[in-house]
Amino acid sequence: MAFKDECGVFGCWPELEASKQTYLGLYALQHRGQEAAGICSRDEGKLYLHKGLGHVADIFTGPVLEQLPGDGAIGHTRYSTTGGNVASAAQPFLVQGRFGQVALCHNGNLTNTEQLRSRLIQSGQVFTSPSDSEVILALINRASADNLEDALLEALEQVQGAYSILLLTETQLLAVRDPYGFRPLSLGKLGSAFVFSSETCAFDLLGAEYVREVAPGEVLILDRDGMRSRFPHPQIRPKPCVFEHVYFSRPDSLVYGLSVMGTRREMGRLLAQRHPVEADLVVPVPDSGVSAALGYAERSGIPFEFGLIRNHYVGRTFIEPRQSIRSFGVKVKLNPVRELLKGKRVVLVDDSLVRGTTSRKIVQMVRAAGAAEVHMRISSPPTTHSCFYGIDTPSRDHLLAASRGVEQIRAFIGADSVGYLTLEDLQASMKDLDGQGFCYACFTGDYPVPPPPGGRP
Ligand code: AMP
Repeated sequence: MAFKDECGVFGCWPELEASKQTYLGLYALQHRGQEAAGICSRDEGKLYLHKGLGHVADIFTGPVLEQLPGDGAIGHTRYSTTGGNVASAAQPFLVQGRFGQVALCHNGNLTNTEQLRSRLIQSGQVFTSPSDSEVILALINRASADNLEDALLEALEQVQGAYSILLLTETQLLAVRDPYGFRPLSLGKLGSAFVFSSETCAFDLLGAEYVREVAPGEVLILDRDGMRSRFPHPQIRPKPCVFEHVYFSRPDSLVYGLSVMGTRREMGRLLAQRHPVEADLVVPVPDSGVSAALGYAERSGIPFEFGLIRNHYVGRTFIEPRQSIRSFGVKVKLNPVRELLKGKRVVLVDDSLVRGTTSRKIVQMVRAAGAAEVHMRISSPPTTHSCFYGIDTPSRDHLLAASRGVEQIRAFIGADSVGYLTLEDLQASMKDLDGQGFCYACFTGDYPVPPPPGGRP
């Protein structure tokens, strides 16, 4: 099974330089996926596509963007996957079917892809990739409705799981969010044009104004008559992903209408209250721990220092010297500032522990730099369950906290103490008073939509 994880989507309509604006939007969403990117534009009823492997700035040059004309565009950045041919899975997908040319990009994970795919294959459908997005396009093409909008609603009746989708046709741009609203999607205004983005940091780069979220369960249609909304699903309580706020989104974004910097800092403050410790420095694991570490330092009164420096130019692979260097992978990314750490009692703050392997190396690194004590503080609860809705987590047996208590975790990563945020504190940081407003499944195992049979590979 191939997972399409942690992607970013952007779209705009009707805007004269649609593909250039989309390029900029994707640039701001690069953190949501560095494996592949693509843009599809629409000009006078014809769609143009360019996509490739790598970073947005490498794939899209000036001449390439000139080949993507028109006043409407959608784009995608893609994160690594657990399988499949990566080149064939780059998005947007563009097909030619009963409704002419249709392009689609998707952030999220369907949970019933395999059932739908095998049913479709039995009935003669062919697929070019392992992606669940192609399944949606096939369902649209096979619907009984005679127009794309209704065919899309028929397709949505059959799919389960997480999807924030942008569709571009010869005459329309459509934005769709699943009824639980697992993955974010915001609507903005750029002059007279509408823009859509996984995160609002892209609006800031373009000078667009944030209007609102695409509502969970909403299908938003833009065409030459303007914008209208449809709500095809029965009303349910939305469960947007809390992990967007814990780790994945940029701190300068509004996600679900909440400032990520604000929620993360509050997580850090509450963590300081919950797990105080006598120490000399609060040091974030950059970049993921920075906002929470600021909150921890603020509430504890312990000075904040950048005791670890991150190299921001590290690619996905690097060539190691023949004689392998201990902890090379972590050392390439992070380097301790010895002058700051030497002899100090350090509170190390990160947003989450997954396998624990990186954290273990970082703790060793901080000790080797001369720290007298290392106290690990995690600004989320123990990650005990895999995500099936679009966050890349390993299977349960690889999750450190799935089978170990805090003392065993402390021993594994080699810290002097370990403290996690409680679920209640996380809910308080999100201003989720009854604890029902978000999906917390990675911390609780309480899955709003049943995981696929067989679970995570
Ligand atoms: P580990 O040492 O395996 O526990 O990894 C912990 C690090 O992974 C932390 O710095 C987290 O910020 C980061 N992290 C958490 N979730 C993810 C994810 N889904 N994808 C990539 N990195 C993650």
